[in-house]
Amino acid sequence: MDEKLPLLTIVIPCYNEEDVLLETIEQLSNTMEGLIQERLITSNSMLLFVDDGSKDETWRLITRACTNNKYVTGLKLAKNVGHQNALIAGLEKAKSKSDCVISIDADLQDDITVIRDFILSYHDGHDIVFGVRRKRSTDTLFKRATAQGFYKIMNRLGIPLIYNHADYRLMSNRALRELGKYKESNLFLRGIIPMIGLKTTEVFYDRKERLAGETKYPLRKMLSFALNGLTSFSVAPIRFITYLGFLIFFMSGIAGAYAIVQKIMGLTDEGWTSLMISIWLLGGLQLMGVGMIGEYISRIFMEVKHRPKYAVDVDLYTDKNPLEQLRSSNRDIVTAKKVQWKR
Ligand code: UDP
Ligand code: MG
Repeated sequence: MDEKLPLLTIVIPCYNEEDVLLETIEQLSNTMEGLIQERLITSNSMLLFVDDGSKDETWRLITRACTNNKYVTGLKLAKNVGHQNALIAGLEKAKSKSDCVISIDADLQDDITVIRDFILSYHDGHDIVFGVRRKRSTDTLFKRATAQGFYKIMNRLGIPLIYNHADYRLMSNRALRELGKYKESNLFLRGIIPMIGLKTTEVFYDRKERLAGETKYPLRKMLSFALNGLTSFSVAPIRFITYLGFLIFFMSGIAGAYAIVQKIMGLTDEGWTSLMISIWLLGGLQLMGVGMIGEYISRIFMEVKHRPKYAVDVDLYTDKNPLEQLRSSNRDIVTAKKVQWKR
């Protein structure tokens, strides 16, 4: 081997993905194989499956694949911490060994044939390559509308999101080290990574249907994701409340003057309706304002604690020993845990 080929790690967060996992492993291994044949990456390149506290057979499938597929390795988180944090866990782990890292969802909705383009861009000297969906025809109308609304609002607020880019991207080791400098515990990757700068490019692809299984992003998680993204980046919502406060203050001046004039003219007896309306209106607005402030305070609260984003249960990526044990014994997850604890 004359020139040094880059070591690629593909990070795949998985939460209850038993339905798609085997197919995903197969397809990604074939992709790896092809890239190695083409001498675009080294043969030690890896597929790092991060099990985000799945309750089904996911981890068992990962450990089994570890023993019979040389590319597959795994990281088991101690509990479910959500897609973003699972991804961060994988990226931080992968940083220790890889020259470049690609993140992709386990359901392979993102077209894996463009992985080759990612690597080519990396060879061209790009540090970050964003995978961008050309259209969203396979998503439900609802998902499409909410997602598009989200991008629009974020961009209005000056948060530099890449339109229609999810977490399918390549990052060089350098970009990962830069990302590591962002110490906030509420890390919103899609907003932070475009902020890093460096040499970036985009690769376009068509998004497909999920291979199997169901979406792990129900509406509840989507809303919390959007709100996190918004409040961890921008003070615009809180400023909006301030402006609203000014406006209402101004209007109450007019309303007050009106009330006094009515009083002087001796017309005040009813007024109950307007009173009730303003009590409700102001009460609602105040609650809204307090809620928004609370939102930020809770964020400060979380940040000052510097809580870890995840805990690792089993690490087959950097820890070679449990992997060897697994290989020789072909045992499953329960044994893998014991092996690690005994040392
Ligand atoms: N995921 C995860 N933890 C969670 C929820 C999801 O690691 O708590 C993973 C999931 O296994 C998948 C990726 O995040 O690999 C994206 O999830 P999904 O495909 O369900 O989201 P959608 O494509 O519907 O937005
Ligand atoms: Mg998906």
